[in-house]
Amino acid sequence: FLSINVDITAKIELEKMASTDKLTNIYNRRMLDQFLQVEIEIANRHKEELSLIILDIDHFKHVNDNFGHLAGDKILSELSNIISDNLRNSDIFGRYGGEEFLIICPKTNKHNAFILAEKLRIIVKTFEFDKVGYKTVSIGISDFQKNDSIETLFKKADEALYIAKNNGRDKCIVYEGNKV
Ligand code: GH3
Ligand code: MG
Ligand code: MG
Repeated sequence: FLSINVDITAKIELEKMASTDKLTNIYNRRMLDQFLQVEIEIANRHKEELSLIILDIDHFKHVNDNFGHLAGDKILSELSNIISDNLRNSDIFGRYGGEEFLIICPKTNKHNAFILAEKLRIIVKTFEFDKVGYKTVSIGISDFQKNDSIETLFKKADEALYIAKNNGRDKCIVYEGNKV
């Protein structure tokens, strides 16, 4: 019995490691892709709403350049905590890569996703990070439309993020077309 328990514990530990981003302790890209696939299937089959939020730290390179890579790492982990603390249980939050994060919002239209994104944007910009001070984020939002795939849903949010970056950053932009 003991050995079976040890096996199960080890297996759970391994699964957690494979699904978690080491630095921030939130879901990694692999898990985000899996969740997105599942949520898109649900949205398709049950005609449920689904929104995707991409969040990217503004001028993050400055942090590394001026305060060092470790300070940059610390911002990534602090930011993940702040955001985790301000999400609903149903939202799926993870690190997609570098200084880019995704929030998958099941049963949520883009209007409500925008409200959530604005709330997060303000929470981040008013938070004083240890040593580094204040940072802002830019956010792109898209919603699921019939026949969207992971790629198209992501591309729409990424286009909205690009607009946010090109319009002065520290902004949330909703993708307003239906197709990419
Ligand atoms: P923008 O406002 O356009 O987003 O500018 P930016 O500087 O945030 O964006 P850019 O993509 O030019 O730079 C992202 C930086 O994030 C570069 C890279 O070194 C840094 N970065 C990516 N992953 C990590 C990490 O795990 N730790 C640290 N410290 N830095 C990271
Ligand atoms: Mg980036
Ligand atoms: Mg950035």
